[in-house]
Amino acid sequence: MAEFVYENDRLLFTEEMREEYTVLVPQMAPYHFEYFVSAMNSEGYKAELLKTTDYELIHEGMKYSHNDICVPAMLVIGQFIDAIKKRGIDAHKVALIITQTGGGCRASNYIALLRKALKKANLAFVPVISLNAGGLEKNPGFKVSPRLLHKLHDAMLFGDLMMTLVNQTRPYEIKKGETDALRQTIDRELEGYFQHKTLFSWHRQKRVSKKMIKRFKRIPVDRIKPKPKVGIVGEIYVKYSPLGNNHLEATLEQEGCEVVTPPLYDFFLYTFDSRAYDITQYGGPKKERFLLKMFIWYVEVRRHKIRKMLKRSGFDPGVAYKKLKKLANGFINHGTHTGEGWLLTAEMVDLIQHGAPNIVCTQPFGCLPNHIAGKGMIKKLKKHYPESNIVAIDYDTSASKINQLNRINLMVSNAFRMLEKED
Ligand code: SF4
Repeated sequence: MAEFVYENDRLLFTEEMREEYTVLVPQMAPYHFEYFVSAMNSEGYKAELLKTTDYELIHEGMKYSHNDICVPAMLVIGQFIDAIKKRGIDAHKVALIITQTGGGCRASNYIALLRKALKKANLAFVPVISLNAGGLEKNPGFKVSPRLLHKLHDAMLFGDLMMTLVNQTRPYEIKKGETDALRQTIDRELEGYFQHKTLFSWHRQKRVSKKMIKRFKRIPVDRIKPKPKVGIVGEIYVKYSPLGNNHLEATLEQEGCEVVTPPLYDFFLYTFDSRAYDITQYGGPKKERFLLKMFIWYVEVRRHKIRKMLKRSGFDPGVAYKKLKKLANGFINHGTHTGEGWLLTAEMVDLIQHGAPNIVCTQPFGCLPNHIAGKGMIKKLKKHYPESNIVAIDYDTSASKINQLNRINLMVSNAFRMLEKED
């Protein structure tokens, strides 16, 4: 049995625990987190992704945390406690992992809320690991080694690529279920991909991406009748998580739309870029700024190659980060980087300019950053782009699903009307 070690009252995840414990990972982005877990497991962790999508688990979050905190925090806390209490997991053999963005938002403080909730639920002996890029909290049993970091980078690229391919193929497939079946096959194959022991895997990553695109291209589709493109933007958790947004992607597809969800990597580049921006504006280590800029450059080189392959095969590759950043000009300052900040506005401009003027702007109720950079921008965008058809949807513990659906349906019927007019 692993010994408990504390640092300033914080229970550490020790090397012994790494051998014995299962690390539970909350589900946020279904296309990406599956690969993150495979990457972690290939490096000797026993990680498990929580796939529960029953909204009732929010009650566990509400029971053990203040009801004034944001919905994403309640859902993540609820998902963890629900898994430990109800799903037969041995509470003495699990650790939890949660991301800390390090920004000014409450997302940086979820970890403290989670520990408080565990204490209240008599689970204070469960260690909580922080996954962050700024060295906010350290644990002897959890280290992001250069190889794991590179694998997580590959996982992010594969997640974004898979999301693009599925969203651009599934609505048009002739034989229903073919896209999902291919996705499952590739997901299984990618588990093996992460087992490699080399530090860099550029060529393999490129080769696998090329093969993925080719296989999706082979799925027979019918694109004669166009479908309205609907973009999903907003707060990071409710934007990607089906648990957080009541299965928004599936709902929109059922309504006959093609979903366009911006890449998750853009959010991470934006987070690093925001730190570099702060150093330029307010001072700080120049070396850190240089490294952040180098990292963004490196990721963009890798992503550029994937975008080129996508374009060659007839898929819409999306825009480069630098170009995306410029789209915020004239609407919102790049210094607005709490929560999703200027990125949210830039994503909406990008969607409007690239054939998806229909947008669902998802936001947790009471999420101040998103009310400014998301909902707050709709009027200005409408003035600039009269064709934009944006609906802001609040996700709240008490928000009725019917109300959300009614608003989404209204936006979708406008989208169809606009498409008919164009025709
Ligand atoms: S962005 Fe909004 S929902 Fe997310 S942590 Fe901040 S306030 Fe909460």
